[in-house]
Amino acid sequence: GDEEVESVPLPLPSISKSSRESRWSDTTSYASKKKLQSWFQLPNGNWELGNIISTTGTESVISLSEGKVLKVKSESLVPANPDILDGVDDLMQLSYLNEPSVLYNLQRRYNQNMIYTKAGPVLVAVNPFKKVPLYGNDYIEAYKRKAIESPHVYAIAHMAIREMIRDEVNQSIIISGESGAGKTETAKIAMQYLAALCGGSGIEYEILKTNPVLEAFGNAKTLRNDNSSRFGKLIEIHFSETGKISGANIQTCKFTTESRVVQCNEGERSYHIFYQLCAGAPPSLREKLNLLNVEDYKYLRQSNCYSITGVNDAEEFCIVMEALDVVHIGKEDQENVFAMLAAVLWFGNISFTVVDNENHVQVIEDEALFTVAKLIGCDIGDLKITLSTRKMKVGNDNIVQKLTLSQAIDARDAMAKSIYACLFDWIIEQINKSLAVGKRRTGRSISILDIYGFESFDRNSFEQFCINYANERLQQHFNRHLFKLEQEEYIQDGIDWAKVEFEDNQDCLNLFEKKPLGLLSLLDEESTFPNGTDLTFANKLKQHLSSNSSFRGERGKAFTVCHYAGEVTYDTTGFLEKNRDLLHVNCIQLLSSCTCHLPQIFASNMLTQSEKPIVGPLHKSGGADSQKLSVATKFKSQLFLLMQRLESTTPHFIRCIKPNNLQSPGLYEQGLVLQQLKCCGVLEVVRISRSGFPTRMSHQKFARRYGFLLLENAASQDPLSVSVAILQQFNILPEMYQVGYTKLFFRTGQIGVLEDTRNRT
Ligand code: ATP
Ligand code: MG
Repeated sequence: GDEEVESVPLPLPSISKSSRESRWSDTTSYASKKKLQSWFQLPNGNWELGNIISTTGTESVISLSEGKVLKVKSESLVPANPDILDGVDDLMQLSYLNEPSVLYNLQRRYNQNMIYTKAGPVLVAVNPFKKVPLYGNDYIEAYKRKAIESPHVYAIAHMAIREMIRDEVNQSIIISGESGAGKTETAKIAMQYLAALCGGSGIEYEILKTNPVLEAFGNAKTLRNDNSSRFGKLIEIHFSETGKISGANIQTCKFTTESRVVQCNEGERSYHIFYQLCAGAPPSLREKLNLLNVEDYKYLRQSNCYSITGVNDAEEFCIVMEALDVVHIGKEDQENVFAMLAAVLWFGNISFTVVDNENHVQVIEDEALFTVAKLIGCDIGDLKITLSTRKMKVGNDNIVQKLTLSQAIDARDAMAKSIYACLFDWIIEQINKSLAVGKRRTGRSISILDIYGFESFDRNSFEQFCINYANERLQQHFNRHLFKLEQEEYIQDGIDWAKVEFEDNQDCLNLFEKKPLGLLSLLDEESTFPNGTDLTFANKLKQHLSSNSSFRGERGKAFTVCHYAGEVTYDTTGFLEKNRDLLHVNCIQLLSSCTCHLPQIFASNMLTQSEKPIVGPLHKSGGADSQKLSVATKFKSQLFLLMQRLESTTPHFIRCIKPNNLQSPGLYEQGLVLQQLKCCGVLEVVRISRSGFPTRMSHQKFARRYGFLLLENAASQDPLSVSVAILQQFNILPEMYQVGYTKLFFRTGQIGVLEDTRNRT
């Protein structure tokens, strides 16, 4: 009967057998009742809502949609939230925090174009893949006046501004997520809000216009995202004493070795700017640069993909040119930039003939060769020699070695890549010069980080290796701030708070960073060995790292790393080559001696260029310049610079979620969303925030901030007494706060009343 049913608690739902996942399903108090709603997992993995009709402990009868009634194991049911909690805007408010409830809540909101949801302190943004009516001046105004409270990037940006001013601490907005999840769009939305609220001098307009420029030169169509950023970016926006935007600085994290310029996969494209230039250059420029159509360039032809649905490259080119004007890259410089782009494309059309039976080559004298020489401003003969031979020093003798076909192609491609990499750096440098105009800095800033998310493909190479390493670092930053620091603070302040465990990724970071036996050290070491190959590298890893629980050797040249977001198997093919980033001295000499625009564009870069990792046998025999940085090491130091900037800021996290892999609107794949929520720790955060006291303030500050609201004059009292009086007067429940040695700790939402009263007074 009823009573029996009432008294039989459902066992803890076993969503997954791992204790990690069931820990946040706080359902111990959950007792099954008749008509109680419950989640039932269908064979395809999706969850369906049903009503429990009866239960006998181990078995329950549940009615699902369309009159389906099933007898199921009670443990396969997961409690659903009451209807009143449908689509709450903070997952913290859910009575039952479990996977299906979270998924359903996000989906329900998503279906109504409410793509933003809070997960405690984190903002979750589900990519709508269509225009949603959530942006623009009316919305900005409403968030500014706090007329709308629903979660939004605007609200996060607003909070960052407020806390920067209130606490006099620099802020950061850290945006993460998979490729195509919406990081770059989200970053732009945040920038728009900051510009609208804190603009005035005009510099904010310039800052916004850096976006089309950087996207043209740093983004490309990939299989996952038509506008995929192939670099990480931190933009630090500076504020004046009066809280107005006064300038900015951009720092990027990019692979100089990325092969996209010279080679990309079927269905992908090279950087947008190449297609834009070919499609949009006016006739005079076309003639000057001897521009062809995209199909006529080998570099662009090989992926068999020239256009992006819904994008007009010619129009984009105009937008980019205008944006270049705005960021103060003058017309002449622009033309030089375009000339270098054309040179890169023409490099790809340079071809070779084999001249002997050892596969040695000669450069074919054709339009491609002539055009490159003309565009970069060098002697045709010198270019031919550089592309087909290599000068080496053996003992005291200079010898000239002929290149084989594959060596010559590599040399050619290396030059093209190197020109493009320098060009990108040069543009960033120019932009930074231009944005630094308001140099009188107060030191206050809001930084926005948009960096490539975790990548796991069928075949993972050097780039994924570096990207995932970066994500591992970011994840640690996230953990540290939300969990570790939180707990340490409680403990320091004598707060009674049950310790919450969280997934620590320190092991994995050690695997990468440990010296001398970590992935990065071993990679660099092997890269400097004359006889090092990808296979010897893979074997070394297996030999030295197998004891690390985050590492697993695989057959042949592969190895697996257990990342926080899942296991990834890397194929070491090409690792050493990419890490060495071999640009031969001859090539460097040629590029730096060009008479045209290159030396100007490379003025500052050539130096760093020639210091680039020329490791390995060549470097050894040359003996000229000693310590060179490898690509992985350079990437790591760029990453550390980024992290350093973030370290001293108050972070605000936005996690972008991609609801489907088709880039199409309205399609919400539960499994895919769940996997991303798990990867970025969103569920853990909610669990922890619910059990913790995320809002805190020192006794002094609290007393100062709200003391004047006291009905009785308490001016003479100590801050702690004033604080307690305030808490009492406002009826803040004892379980909603804790008094620490130095600070007061509150559960979420408790300070709201006080702030409201204060603002009204
Ligand atoms: P990557 O890591 O590849 O650079 P990303 O996370 O930066 O990916 P975005 O380029 O920001 O992804 O987003 C991909 C696409 O999703 C956008 O081009 C846009 O079409 C769509 N999109 C993202 N966010 C929004 C939004 N808020 N409103 C409408 N469309 C969006
Ligand atoms: Mg992006």
